[in-house]
Amino acid sequence: MNPYAITADPGASRQEKPADGTADLHLHTLFSDGTFTPEELAQRGAQLGFAAMALTDHDTVEGCERMSRACQSLGIECITGTELTAEFDGHEVHLLGYFLDAHQPKLLTEIKKFQTVRQERIREMVSRLNGLGIPLRAETVFELANCHSPGRPHVARALEQEGLCVSMDQAFERYLKKGRPAWVPKYKISALDAIALIHQANGLAVMAHPGLNHCDQAIPHLASDGLDGLECFHSRHNAAQSEHYLAMARRLNLAVTGGSDCHGFSKGKPLIGGVRLSAVYLQKLKEARRS
Ligand SMILES: [Zn+2]
Ligand SMILES: [Zn+2]
Repeated sequence: MNPYAITADPGASRQEKPADGTADLHLHTLFSDGTFTPEELAQRGAQLGFAAMALTDHDTVEGCERMSRACQSLGIECITGTELTAEFDGHEVHLLGYFLDAHQPKLLTEIKKFQTVRQERIREMVSRLNGLGIPLRAETVFELANCHSPGRPHVARALEQEGLCVSMDQAFERYLKKGRPAWVPKYKISALDAIALIHQANGLAVMAHPGLNHCDQAIPHLASDGLDGLECFHSRHNAAQSEHYLAMARRLNLAVTGGSDCHGFSKGKPLIGGVRLSAVYLQKLKEARRS
């Protein structure tokens, strides 16, 4: 756990603070590769004392209505979001969209395209596995994923479930990691198109976990082309990285966000509760939306 992120509060000391008034703005459910339902996630958020939560499933907004209803019944503010995989200058970047109009036709059309590409990628990975003599069926992966945004973790889970690998780790290590025989490159839209798409749906575009993508050079370019914020606090950012991105956000006049990137009980993935964003930052994000 990143101890500093617990106090993701401007000007706060590094000691633990009460849980009230805090937000987690980066969360996944089983509408993409998380393991919680929106209701389970909201329940956990309530137990942990979160005041606001944003659902940011990969390439979809499908879970947001259920999440919103669940949060409402628990007195938690819910922000409609998504996480888009994009590309800038050959680097993969993830863009979070917040306060989206989940019914905006262009957004829904593009999301549908991303999902089709994801499904084709699964078929291609399975076909490569079959070529290696691994008897996995694409339908098994789709049944297990049971969502429109299937990804590599679902292939890994299916390999484990079918007894074709002893663990998901082994599935990645042997077949699915970049450079391994069943790895298939992921289609990515350009970061500028992703930002434009988010804006078209009345949303704010925030770069997710910049510390994981090694793309600092992209940030000033994207900031001048409409990027609204930077996810400074993330389960995988250490204190120095959080500081670094906070300084960058200040310099480039970007909003500051943070979230756990919780994927539920997926081995090695972060859980909700490790990152708490101060209400002050959420307030500033809302002000950015108004301006
Ligand atoms: Zn991401
Ligand atoms: Zn994520």
